[in-house]
Amino acid sequence: MKYQIADAKKLVVKIGSSLIVNNSTGEIHREWLQSFIHDIVQCWRRGQNIIIVSSGAIPLGRRHLKLKNRVLQLEEKQAAAAVGQIKLAHVYQEMLAEHGITGAQILLTLDDSENRRRYLNAKNTLETLLNLRAIPVINENDTVATAEIRFGDNDRLAARVAQMIGADHLVLLSDIEGLYTANPQLNSKATLIREVTQLTPDILAMASDSITQYGSGGMVTKLAAAKIAFSSGCKMVIAAGKHFNPLMRIDSVSEHTWFIPDTTPANARKNWIAQHLKPKGNIVIDAGAVTALFQGKSLLSVGVKAIQGEFHKGDAVCILNLEQKEIARGLINYAAHAAEKIKGLHSSEFEKILGYSAGEEMIHRDNLVLNRSENK
Ligand code: GLU
Repeated sequence: MKYQIADAKKLVVKIGSSLIVNNSTGEIHREWLQSFIHDIVQCWRRGQNIIIVSSGAIPLGRRHLKLKNRVLQLEEKQAAAAVGQIKLAHVYQEMLAEHGITGAQILLTLDDSENRRRYLNAKNTLETLLNLRAIPVINENDTVATAEIRFGDNDRLAARVAQMIGADHLVLLSDIEGLYTANPQLNSKATLIREVTQLTPDILAMASDSITQYGSGGMVTKLAAAKIAFSSGCKMVIAAGKHFNPLMRIDSVSEHTWFIPDTTPANARKNWIAQHLKPKGNIVIDAGAVTALFQGKSLLSVGVKAIQGEFHKGDAVCILNLEQKEIARGLINYAAHAAEKIKGLHSSEFEKILGYSAGEEMIHRDNLVLNRSENK
């Protein structure tokens, strides 16, 4: 196969409700889930970082609460999610533990991916869990997410998570093989598109044609996820999940739709820092620090001469040389008032001066974009 799950370093896998919850009984589809977890374990054993985004809380809780088959009010959905989520978390924990793996539950809202401080907290927690070799299992925090702050669908939630952690592969497992040229149930000439490299108007039109057929998430939310994945340099695949071992199957058959961006997560991130974030302040650094940056190093506080402007931890700032020329941009690990106190000092003193340390780098090299024209 041209593209493979086996090539992923950081992999986000989203599974839809219809796969995990048996439609007629409202129970967890245990046999299927076991085979899915088996695939996840295989990826984990070969050293891949994996995050699962799992739906299913609402249908599971709805059944348990005996809420009849009708359209639920938002509060009823939230109540159902509260009941269903605990069941969902339990089954993941139990099935991962059978393989000696730690599962970790994270519930997110749209707000957590848009508010800078909450975004950084969620990102740091996810990265820490991955470093500890745990497998995060994510769902939307349906119980607190009111209409305005809801994703409402886990396709976009999964894409945001992939973007947040710089994942290189995103898998959307659902009840269809992928994107078709037209609705395959209505049009016998409809064909599966195997590779998409751009979200052209034609591609977007194909999705709207198939809305009703594909249930709640539908193709529209999958293309919204693809848009996020493209902008983050993350490859994405839509694949049929109903088979057993659905992840391993992706690498052995070719009936899926792959979305292939023309950039990598690292470059997409640098582009975002350089082009899309408004710098909130300046960091003036000495000549030694300039040389270190152009050698690919992080910015340490010892080389920092002055702090200008008001900014928070995680904000974008310009890095200036002593002639006040911008030589780079980056995301800073310290707020302006803290940066002011530690400028010129070695990281061993941070704890004493600030009462904490947010790492020895003032700006990590992964969060730095150099202005190459200033490198003489
Ligand atoms: N968060 C919802 C649930 O757990 C699912 C949303 C979706 O399937 O896209 O039921």
